[in-house]
Amino acid sequence: MLNTQLFHTEVPPRPMGKYAHIVMLRVTEGYALFQTDGELNRARVSAGTTSDSQMMTRITLFKRKQTTPERLNGRELLRNYGLLSDSDDEKDPDSCIYNVKSCRKCPDCITYGFAIGDGGSEKSKVYSDTAFSLTDYATSHEVFTLNAPYEDGTMSDRGEVTSRINQQDHVKPQTVFPAVITSRDLTTNLFIYVLQNVLRTTRY
Ligand SMILES: [Zn+2]
Repeated sequence: MLNTQLFHTEVPPRPMGKYAHIVMLRVTEGYALFQTDGELNRARVSAGTTSDSQMMTRITLFKRKQTTPERLNGRELLRNYGLLSDSDDEKDPDSCIYNVKSCRKCPDCITYGFAIGDGGSEKSKVYSDTAFSLTDYATSHEVFTLNAPYEDGTMSDRGEVTSRINQQDHVKPQTVFPAVITSRDLTTNLFIYVLQNVLRTTRY
């Protein structure tokens, strides 16, 4: 169904502004945790852009939380088909080590970009931004009290009862996070690569 005529046949050396958007709804299937330091990430934002300016709190899913698992899934696929060197040697020109060293030629480097000190850089051709829960934080989360039992599965050890309990916020199942991913100047195959990474990623 994808109209391949709309894409480049090869990646242009300079930006040409050919954009494609992936519009999606990410929906939680279990009790998800989107947090950076113990609490669910959330933001006070207006409910609407024009007609409803009332403020509300939404759960946020940061950009990195979305793109990292998708990129890693893509890299896993490339490695599986021998399209990504598995060398750990940083001096090896072919080695591509995530967040450490870029090979500058694999589909991951070309589409998602790289930056290396004085070795040049390539801007990402995949844009995404923070995703917000459609529904309010108050109705979209649940607090659980979790306990940490001892090895025998009970909360007591040699007659002493532990207080090893912890409270944790979770995103409720079926909470919707609308999001848009925009690609710039990709070939049909690279666009399919990005799209498949999104479709195949189930854990964030
Ligand atoms: Zn690479």
